[in-house]
Amino acid sequence: MIRSLRTFLGAAILLPAMVVAQDRPIALKVSTAYDGKGRTLHNTTIVIEGSKILRVGGTVPANAIVYDLAALTVTPGWIDTHSHIGYHFGPDGRNGGRGEPPAQATLRGVENAILTLNAGFTTIQSPGQMTDKDLRDAVARGIIPGPRIFTSLQPLTENSGPPDKLRELVRQRKEQGADFIKIFASKSIREGGAQTMTDEQLQAACGEAKSLGLRTMVHAHSAESAKASTLAGCTSVEHGAYVTDEVFSLMAERGTYYDPNIGLVLQNYIENKPKFLGSGNYTEEGFAFMEKGLAITLATFKKALTHKNLKIVYGTDAVAGAHGRNYEEFIVRVRDGGQDPMAALESATSISAASMNMGDQIGSLAAGMQADIVGFDGNPLQDVTAARRAVFVMKAGKVYENRSPGH
Ligand SMILES: [Zn+2]
Repeated sequence: MIRSLRTFLGAAILLPAMVVAQDRPIALKVSTAYDGKGRTLHNTTIVIEGSKILRVGGTVPANAIVYDLAALTVTPGWIDTHSHIGYHFGPDGRNGGRGEPPAQATLRGVENAILTLNAGFTTIQSPGQMTDKDLRDAVARGIIPGPRIFTSLQPLTENSGPPDKLRELVRQRKEQGADFIKIFASKSIREGGAQTMTDEQLQAACGEAKSLGLRTMVHAHSAESAKASTLAGCTSVEHGAYVTDEVFSLMAERGTYYDPNIGLVLQNYIENKPKFLGSGNYTEEGFAFMEKGLAITLATFKKALTHKNLKIVYGTDAVAGAHGRNYEEFIVRVRDGGQDPMAALESATSISAASMNMGDQIGSLAAGMQADIVGFDGNPLQDVTAARRAVFVMKAGKVYENRSPGH
């Protein structure tokens, strides 16, 4: 008995050494890295300790595990501020997952999370459904791979109730564990996008959220709904297909973030039309509108780019069929929208992080930041299609993927 206790203690004494062995620092040797804030780093070393970047530059620690990423282009992990991480096609191959057991729905969410992380997206924001919570928490516990998830849980709409009821619902969401509040202030692009929530409702929801320290993300297509959201002090305007110069100027002045979704969501609906047609408002008419929407949203994005102080975040509005292709937004923005590739990268990293009040933790490569680091085969700033080739993915200091050439 005593002997076995001694053996046990012996093993326990050895344990810290094993833990240290697992916690060896990691050093990434890079030849070209973009820090997410407009700077380019050449021939340097990124040293990671635990979940964070210890330093950029200096020598490789003697006991470090070294990854040679010199053949890749390195960036901070990308952020998608608008990804419906749980949306998927059900067993019938159609949108919505009708008749699907909850366990299958959960596993589809897990699948979306893995696809998203492998694509180089280490953080997403889901606006939102109640089941996001379990997925978010499971990823945070480290039991499944996936991006860091922030969720609004169930969104609020014009039908949620009068101003007082909306304030109550905002408080309820916070208690339920929501990271932010998602609000629908206008109709969908398929229905013209007119304002649905009253100015008073918007002021109540965004005002209450702000007083509780919660951010607000508002679905608003028309200029008036975007303007009302801005004046109500909401954090970001999503989609905004019909926003005018006047309203963009107001948003820039008030610091309201703009999240255009021009590169993935409509394209994905059109590519997967048979899987969506017939569910909800996905009618033939709706699809005809979405076809036209491609040009409308692109033109609005180009208009937004002329407002130099407007803070544009990187959201794709990924739904079923789009997860793991979140990089397409970057390609369309640069190739078709004419956005400067460095600015598009900053949007997908540091600007999106700032919009989530996470700018001191994610979205850039610097000492003290979470070690969310992606390596691309090719250089996305020189060849946009390289954004599709994330071959090295680290999140919080853990390597989830390493398919770099020569490995
Ligand atoms: Zn959405």
